[in-house]
Amino acid sequence: MKASDQLDDTPRSSPRSRRQTVGANTSAVKPPLSKSSRKDPSVTGTDLPQVLDSSKRTTPTRSRKHMKTEAVNGTAKPVSPPEELIQSTSDLRILVKQEEEEEKAGEIQAKDKAVKKTSRKRNIDAKEETRETQANERLPKTSKGKKTTPVDKVEAEVSEPSTKKSKRKVIVAKKEEEVEGEASPPKGKRKRKVEEVEEKLDELGEPIKKIPKKRKTKEEKEADAMPIVARSSGLRMFIGAHVSSAKGVHNTVTNCVHIGGNAFAMFLKSQRKWENPPLQEEHKDLFISNCGDHKYDASSHVLPHGSYLVNLAQEDHAKATQAYDAFLDDLQRCEALGIKLYNFHPGSTGNHPRPSAIARIAKALNRAHMATKTVTPVLETMAAGGNVLGSTFEDLRDIIALIDDKQRIGVCLDTCHVFAAGYDLRSPTAFKKTLDDFDQIIGLKFLRALHLNDSKAPFGSHRDLHQNIGLGFLGLRAFHNVMNETRFEGLPLVLETPIDHKDPETGKDVEDKSVWAREIKTLEGLIGMDADGAEFKALEKELADKGAEERRKLQEQFDKKVEKDRKAVERGQTRLSFGKQKRKGGSVQGSGSDSEA
Ligand SMILES: [Zn+2]
Ligand SMILES: [Zn+2]
Repeated sequence: MKASDQLDDTPRSSPRSRRQTVGANTSAVKPPLSKSSRKDPSVTGTDLPQVLDSSKRTTPTRSRKHMKTEAVNGTAKPVSPPEELIQSTSDLRILVKQEEEEEKAGEIQAKDKAVKKTSRKRNIDAKEETRETQANERLPKTSKGKKTTPVDKVEAEVSEPSTKKSKRKVIVAKKEEEVEGEASPPKGKRKRKVEEVEEKLDELGEPIKKIPKKRKTKEEKEADAMPIVARSSGLRMFIGAHVSSAKGVHNTVTNCVHIGGNAFAMFLKSQRKWENPPLQEEHKDLFISNCGDHKYDASSHVLPHGSYLVNLAQEDHAKATQAYDAFLDDLQRCEALGIKLYNFHPGSTGNHPRPSAIARIAKALNRAHMATKTVTPVLETMAAGGNVLGSTFEDLRDIIALIDDKQRIGVCLDTCHVFAAGYDLRSPTAFKKTLDDFDQIIGLKFLRALHLNDSKAPFGSHRDLHQNIGLGFLGLRAFHNVMNETRFEGLPLVLETPIDHKDPETGKDVEDKSVWAREIKTLEGLIGMDADGAEFKALEKELADKGAEERRKLQEQFDKKVEKDRKAVERGQTRLSFGKQKRKGGSVQGSGSDSEA
């Protein structure tokens, strides 16, 4: 699969080591945007969001005006045992990760499953919960084994040969595929197994294993929407993450509330299959009402991500039709949901001449414009070189030049991608230069969104490897530049950073959505922060230290590659000197062969 700028499977440093002191948010010095409709009037007077321990914070060296908290939807109330929630999330992570290991495609179901089992006690206020999260991260997760037992049993059960069971398996698996919505790529099999056993139980009436299949109670559903951290309100920067749309697109809203995001991305259907069931009317209605309930402006701050299968530059007629149909279907879903921005990867030339590939993309976009009314397709900047379109600003400029309705075309700047593609963002000067280039070549008026990712791979490496904020080669300074760029105000800013880490006990990768919750607060905290002050320097160093080992590894890989390419060039030259017509090794950084998106 050619891949994803979604989540990277590479293990990252444990979140326990990550900075916790991100509680205080500062708004930009200016008053809130008038277009922000999400301020909860009942809480705007609140002071700091006490969701994360701010004790480590040094004396503020910056303005803390407009610091506000939004007790999301009024759901945050003081209540009971935080431990259960944390535990349930851990279970969820295990489930999800195990699925990934087993199968490279499918729907995410495990989350809801795990939550079903344990979420009844998720009645926790954000503050307590966060404190618990921190504690949890510091302590070994002792009861993990116990908690996952049901799944292990299920697995054992599933692996036992049985005609009845196998037969049932097929049916259930098929049923699951019909479920609308999907999040990060490969998740499904484990859940499927769980579901299978439960179905078997229902059908055969034999209590093989006692795994109660129960509907979610009202309380449980409400608990799913409980935030890890409260959303900030009154900010002009709308930060969130690419959240799961498992079990329906309406769930993205609560998944975003959960991490305290003010903007979000998602897949509108499985991004790894061509055939998908239509958007369900009920899910559509729920999405719209959820956005209303939780005060998200779907037209401005929701940025769906297109399928990785779609290549609008496709030369083959049949494949191009298939790609266009899938693309248009997504745009139509956006319009049904009241979403006006739709991010997608421009495509690949497939070894055909670049200008013709670009013309095919533009033609498809013009056609899609005619078939829709309000949605704006947003071209994502890419990391890889070679055949991949969009790794230079010129590519995007050339596509836009051929678009008839320029009001309805945009660009999403992915910080990791542009950096890997050779556009620096680290120093204020470099950042300014990149934005100036963007403005001169493409035009900043086309900038409609950003993907906020640090880069595991070095500058100009053309590798698409997302890293957590501050840990990669971009570093926190780059994100300070981003967060204080007034021209980004009002745009959706979406994290696609890794949230998996190795569980020290099981050795398995587990998902931790609190990583996004913390990153959002960290980024919000950078607004108005003095980049020369002690507070910033300490935070910058802390994060940089955590990513040091990984950067060293990737730098080494990169250096080796550069050396290899250099030798290839030399060999080529040697052969050339013998009169053989051989293509030179090309740019040292240009092959992009290991790029992910
Ligand atoms: Zn992308
Ligand atoms: Zn991206």
